[in-house]
Amino acid sequence: MKGFRCMLVTWKNIEDWVSEVIKKIELDKYNPEVIIGLARGGLVPARLISDRMQIKDLYAVKTEHWGITATPDGQARITQTLPINISGKRVLVVDDITDTGQSLSLAVDHVKNMGPSELKSATLLHILHSKYIPDYYADVVPEDKWTWFIFPWNVYEDLTNITLKIMDENQVTIESLQDIYEKYFQIKPKKSQLNETLSILIKKGKIVRDGKIYKKL
Ligand code: ADP
Repeated sequence: MKGFRCMLVTWKNIEDWVSEVIKKIELDKYNPEVIIGLARGGLVPARLISDRMQIKDLYAVKTEHWGITATPDGQARITQTLPINISGKRVLVVDDITDTGQSLSLAVDHVKNMGPSELKSATLLHILHSKYIPDYYADVVPEDKWTWFIFPWNVYEDLTNITLKIMDENQVTIESLQDIYEKYFQIKPKKSQLNETLSILIKKGKIVRDGKIYKKL
């Protein structure tokens, strides 16, 4: 089984990263009037930054990174454009993480075309191989420490996806699933989280339960 390094991000991590980003924005004396979150990953960070900085003008742009099978080039694209006029305003675009950097760079270009007086970008995390470097970020991830960050607002999307991948090769019990997560993904999800994950997959008709054993349909 081929795994990859994951991290279960806590709300405390999020609060610390948001504080760090705000510290850097303030040190730079940047005073945005409008915040734009990138749906979906940047929505919660954008909301938290808007709360801490007391900025009530908060909007969203949606980008989607289509897979190789969906588009020939696998490029990110904007699927929800900015719904308001930000011409002449100081704007901050917020996302959770820059990995390839494609989504954020695309969104920043989109907003730039709408004529803001100033435009800066912020993320909680920045992976060093990203082609786009945000103006502000809380922490960097070296390329050789690449990790899939399971954000608190994304736990069940990620755990259902990874669990299905695991179940391509294995029938599991809660206990064996826990062991596989620890060995191949370097995380220890709680039993309650794994129970919830499996029950979502049963409801979606993706897996079945036979006593203690869960298997893919
Ligand atoms: P970008 O690298 O600009 O964020 P991607 O299209 O690669 O663009 O990523 C889009 C979204 O996918 C990110 O905003 C984030 O929500 C999610 N994502 C990408 N890489 C990671 C990662 N290493 N860990 C967790 N989420 C990620």
